[in-house]
Amino acid sequence: MILIVVEHANGKASKSTYELVTAARGLHREGGVTALVLGSGVASVASGAALIADQVLVADSPELAQYDPEVWAAAVAQIATEGEAHTILIAGSRSGREYSPRVAVKLDAPLLEDVISLKDEGGVLQAEHYTFLARVTERIEAEGPMAIVTVKPGAFAAATPGSTASDQFDVDLILPKRRLTITGRTQEKSGRISLTEADIVVSGGRGVGSAEGFTQLVEGLANQLGAAIGATRAVVDADWRPYSEQVGQTGKTVQPKAYIAIGISGAVQHLSGMNKSKCIVAINKDAEAPIFKIADYGIVGDVKEIVPAIIQELRK
Ligand SMILES: Cc1cc2nc3c(=O)[nH]c(=O)nc-3n(C[C@H](O)[C@H](O)[C@H](O)COP(=O)(O)OP(=O)(O)OC[C@H]3O[C@@H](n4cnc5c(N)ncnc54)[C@H](O)[C@@H]3O)c2cc1C
Repeated sequence: MILIVVEHANGKASKSTYELVTAARGLHREGGVTALVLGSGVASVASGAALIADQVLVADSPELAQYDPEVWAAAVAQIATEGEAHTILIAGSRSGREYSPRVAVKLDAPLLEDVISLKDEGGVLQAEHYTFLARVTERIEAEGPMAIVTVKPGAFAAATPGSTASDQFDVDLILPKRRLTITGRTQEKSGRISLTEADIVVSGGRGVGSAEGFTQLVEGLANQLGAAIGATRAVVDADWRPYSEQVGQTGKTVQPKAYIAIGISGAVQHLSGMNKSKCIVAINKDAEAPIFKIADYGIVGDVKEIVPAIIQELRK
C-alpha cells in the first residue's frame, strides 16, 4: 500500500494532504492509498481523509495531542511495517521535514526529499527536486521494497474529495516516551490565511516602490479580497516584508485559484513558485515584462494608479 500521513490543523486536513493524494495516485502503484491520521480528537480529520483516500487508519490518543518528531516517526514506522507499505508520502512541511529522516532510519529505507515530481518507472521511484539554492533541478530515483518521500508543498495539485467515504480503522500504537515538551507558544498576530493554502494570493514586487507602497497596494488589495500575501525575493531582501512571504524557487511554491502579481518582473526563480496558479493577473508598467508571458490577464500601467482604483471599486 501507499501510506500518506495526514497533516491537519483545527480539525481539518491541510492542503498539503490533498497534494500528497495527487502525488500518490500518480504512481499507479498496487494497494491503493491509505491515509494515516495521528492526533487527539481527530474524528473530523479522519472523516475528511475518508473522502480522498481508499482507507483511513486513525490513531486517536491523548498521547498524540501534540506533535513530537520522535513519537510521529515511531508511529509512522510502526504502521508502515504492519501494513507492509511500499511507499510512504509525507508533506514537506517543517514538521514533515523534521520527522521523515527518522522514519527512513527506522525502516532502513531511502528518503526522496522535497520532491516536485514523482513517478514509478517499472518499480523504480523517479523524482525531481531543487538543489544548490534552487539553481539546479536534480533527478533522483530509488529502488527497493520501500521508500519514503517528502513532497514540496504546492508542487502538486490538490486532490478533489469524492462523495463516498472509504472505511476507517482505529489503530493502537506502542509509542515511545515523549522527551521534548513545548513550554510556550506565541502566535503571529496577523491571523491571515496561510500563503500555501489560500485560494487567492496577492503578491508584490519591487515595482511597488517601498515598504509603505507594499502595505498600501498589496496588503490593501489582499484585505479586500481576503487573500494571502506573497512577495518577490527583491522585496524580502530589501526588508520590506518577511522571508515567510517569499514566493519562488527559494521561497514557497503556491498554486492558488488566482495569483495577482503587482510590480513583479517575472524572473524564472519567481515564476517557478507560482506558474501553476489557475489564473494569473499581472500589473506592470513595462509591457515587455516576462510576467505577461504567463499571465492570463495583464494590465500595463502604473501600480500606484491601477491598484488603488481596483481597491476603490471593490470597496463599492
Ligand atoms: C538562486 C536564486 C534564487 C532566487 N529565488 C527567488 C525566489 O524564490 N523568488 C523570487 O521572487 N526571486 C528569486 N530570485 C530573484 C529573481 O531572480 C529576481 O531578481 C526577483 O524575482 C525580482 O523581483 P521583482 O520582480 O520584485 O523585481 P524586478 O525584477 O526589479 O521587477 C520590478 C518590476 O516592477 C515593474 N515596475 C516598476 N515600477 C512600477 C510601477 N510604478 N508600476 C508598475 N510596474 C512597475 C518593473 O517594470 C519591473 O518589471 C532568485 C535569484 C537567484 C539567483
